[in-house]
Amino acid sequence: MGVKAIRGFKDILPDQSPRWQEIECRARDIFSSFGLSEIRTPVLEKTEVFSRGIGEHTDIVEKEMYTFKDRNGDSLTLRPEATAGIIRSVIEHKLYASSPLLKLYTMGPMFRHERPQKGRLRQFHQINVELLGSAAPLSDAECIAMAWQIVRSMTDAKLLLEINSLGCPKCRPLHRKDLLKYLENARDQLCEDCRRRAKTNPLRIFDCKNEQCARVMRQAPLVKHYHCIECASHLGLVLDFLEFMDIPFVQNGYLVRGLDYYVRTTFEIKSPELGAQSTVAAGGRYDGLVKMLGGPDIPGVGMAVGVERLLLISPEAERQGIDLFIAALGREARNTVVPWMHQWRMAGLAVEMAWDDKSLKAQMKQADRAGAGLVLIVGENEIDEETAILRDMETREQDNIPFENIVKSVLNVFEQ
Ligand code: ATP
Ligand code: MG
Repeated sequence: MGVKAIRGFKDILPDQSPRWQEIECRARDIFSSFGLSEIRTPVLEKTEVFSRGIGEHTDIVEKEMYTFKDRNGDSLTLRPEATAGIIRSVIEHKLYASSPLLKLYTMGPMFRHERPQKGRLRQFHQINVELLGSAAPLSDAECIAMAWQIVRSMTDAKLLLEINSLGCPKCRPLHRKDLLKYLENARDQLCEDCRRRAKTNPLRIFDCKNEQCARVMRQAPLVKHYHCIECASHLGLVLDFLEFMDIPFVQNGYLVRGLDYYVRTTFEIKSPELGAQSTVAAGGRYDGLVKMLGGPDIPGVGMAVGVERLLLISPEAERQGIDLFIAALGREARNTVVPWMHQWRMAGLAVEMAWDDKSLKAQMKQADRAGAGLVLIVGENEIDEETAILRDMETREQDNIPFENIVKSVLNVFEQ
């Protein structure tokens, strides 16, 4: 048996790639309508980018990162998410100096050592947005709107946009104090992970998938009851803008994010059709992060769409066939049509022909497999008469096309 791919790492095969391209294409269109620019950062960073940027006491940093020593002993990590690396790049290149607002997107693979299952891989792909330089509620709303538009444009599945606010450094400590007090009494009922989290990252317990922990947390104090005036007003304005954009949402006071850096707005787009791994897109505001990573005090909000999960709820793409297949029989015919084929391709048509000598029947089969709308047939007779046959594969109608001006004649057929 030959070598196989690593567990949790998947090939994206040729029959699947049209749907990937469709998602990426739609996302790019949506991003340009919001005025975003693309940034591409390396998939490998120094480990500290993530341990500092995501937070030591998060699931990602504690147990999910692919971290290894380089040949010269440096600790490197395959990126488990996009934000920390992008912020590293923004700071390193001082991108903020030339522009007070940075509206960035990226897309690509992320790596987390988790248990592979439906909707959960070890190499998976995200489409990410980071909007830096504004603390205004409209930037939160635009970020959410982009996630919503991407997901909504790819699926008819039922979607649920859930929103919460995690408060800010002013109001969150008050909540944390009460939450810790509450958790102290409920400690015995928590899972082992959450007992640890109760000390390091208590907010994260709201996100525990364990049924017993969820029951405990149903009675726990919620951040929303501790919001300061600014946080309450910020959330209210974000929700107003979503209403103005006709984006349906529900508030969920239990929604938290697993990353340390989130403040205020946090959101997830879920689809019940996905089962246990139901979150397709997620994001939130992270005002303190740029400063924490050594940059200036710049606020930001971002989101990530999980591409594999979105594919699970989006319909198969329609097969895209080529424009024209050329069936040439014999050496002279082949030599005659190759220059035409080249010109048609230069003009933007998708054209194919057989590379090997094959019967007309075999070539028609190949044309069919390529999904060609039209086939141009050039055999010995056609060479003698200097006229090719153009066959419509759907209607089976045929036309005779004189060799003279054939490049133009065929292009005209496509322009009609
Ligand atoms: P989950 O609770 O499912 O573990 P998360 O909070 O770890 O999600 P984020 O870090 O917010 O996920 O990542 C954003 C999105 O990326 C998720 O909503 C999901 O769509 C996708 N995603 C995250 N981890 C994986 C994975 N291991 N495999 C596939 N997609 C993933
Ligand atoms: Mg996770």
